[in-house]
Amino acid sequence: MRKPMIAGNWKMNHGISDTISFIKEFKANFNNKNNADIVIAPPFISLESAIRETKNTEIKIAAQNAYYKPNGAFTGEVSFEMLKEIGVNIVILGHSERRGIFGEINELINLKVLRALELGFQPILCVGEKLEEREGGITEKIINMQIEKCFSKVKAEDIPKVIIAYEPIWAIGTGKNAEPSDAETVCSLIRETITALYDASLAEQVRILYGGSVKPANINGYMSLHNVDGALVGGASLKPDSFKEIVNY
Ligand code: PEP
Repeated sequence: MRKPMIAGNWKMNHGISDTISFIKEFKANFNNKNNADIVIAPPFISLESAIRETKNTEIKIAAQNAYYKPNGAFTGEVSFEMLKEIGVNIVILGHSERRGIFGEINELINLKVLRALELGFQPILCVGEKLEEREGGITEKIINMQIEKCFSKVKAEDIPKVIIAYEPIWAIGTGKNAEPSDAETVCSLIRETITALYDASLAEQVRILYGGSVKPANINGYMSLHNVDGALVGGASLKPDSFKEIVNY
């Protein structure tokens, strides 16, 4: 039985004071009736405050990115070691905004996945197709290629720690969520890809999240799917009320 995960990706929203007020309100109101892993990924600047505010709660704090080198001349980057030092051990990698806006390619994301696992992090690896790729009928090919490249040299023993977020790019921040049946088709394909790369029992342990315009009104449609184990939520995670409703699906 895979534990559900609901993760909020705040992107470049909520500085320190907004983070503190969000968490104060959220933790006073949510109830984890589904016994899910509840994860919030604030911007780097807000991580420490978020960790302090969520101490002794069920809320876990994740980073939205990290660089695979431990230190050095990498202006603007933050290493996994630095995140570990403040108590972060979950990290979102390969988000489509990192890929599309900041030019991250699968080979770089792979180095990050390997480093994350080496240091005991749980990576949430994002994969997803563009609208033209879906319309061109190559969704399966794109997702397979992203998984194969991003998991290159990942050891079988690390596979159960990995979380995969299927995030069709055309559904992110657009209000146009994927039909649950389409999400199920791609998430089951992801499990088949992991089976082909490793084996079926490892693939059964991998948690697969759906992301792309998830909101309180559509979360139940995804959480009832066989191959979807949770959600990665952007816009609707920014307000304590809507995130609470999603967590309490
Ligand atoms: C995301 O950024 O990962 C995301 C899914 O965003 P949204 O929920 O706003 O579409």
